[in-house]
Amino acid sequence: MARLGDVFGVKEMTNWLKAWLALNITKDGLHEFVDREVKQFKTGIYQNITSTLGLSANTTCTSCLTANILPCPTQGVCKKSGRKSYICMHDTPSKRYRPCPLSICEKVRDDIKNDHRFNGPSWKNTCAEQWACNHWQIGKCFMPPDGYIGVTSIRDTDFNGVISVMLNCKHFDNLMSFSIAPMSVSPCLLSKVTI
Ligand SMILES: [Zn+2]
Ligand SMILES: [Zn+2]
Repeated sequence: MARLGDVFGVKEMTNWLKAWLALNITKDGLHEFVDREVKQFKTGIYQNITSTLGLSANTTCTSCLTANILPCPTQGVCKKSGRKSYICMHDTPSKRYRPCPLSICEKVRDDIKNDHRFNGPSWKNTCAEQWACNHWQIGKCFMPPDGYIGVTSIRDTDFNGVISVMLNCKHFDNLMSFSIAPMSVSPCLLSKVTI
């Protein structure tokens, strides 16, 4: 197949191209909505925490790494290697588990966990030190664990990643015209498009 025009003469290729276009058009349509809602989700989390702690509304912490706020071992990021050691994200002293100096980050972590439909955020995807300044780092906790580490915004997230956020984050439960039910006998629309 030497020329691009030849693609249109092959049925499978045309179908594939149509499907690819449809996915990208759908994804672009969803971008504004999903991005806005993840931002809203993040703002709500920080507002609740700062008011509970009696801190001023825009207090944030940017000093905790993801490893600092997850105990060792944490499923998905710490693997046992040999009898006593772990291959994990806590491999240097600066990455040890320790309390957040402002008591904010562990609360953000718990809120993300509580709002994850399966209680299993993809911690290895995210950079906790950016949670306060980039809502998409919070969104990434709701994506599949592999393939999204380098993603920093909705623009560089693929269709499956965007749909996964809607499926896995309970914030979206009341925002759709149907119930989000990924594991039910009759999967919802969002589950169907990721199959
Ligand atoms: Zn560990
Ligand atoms: Zn912190």
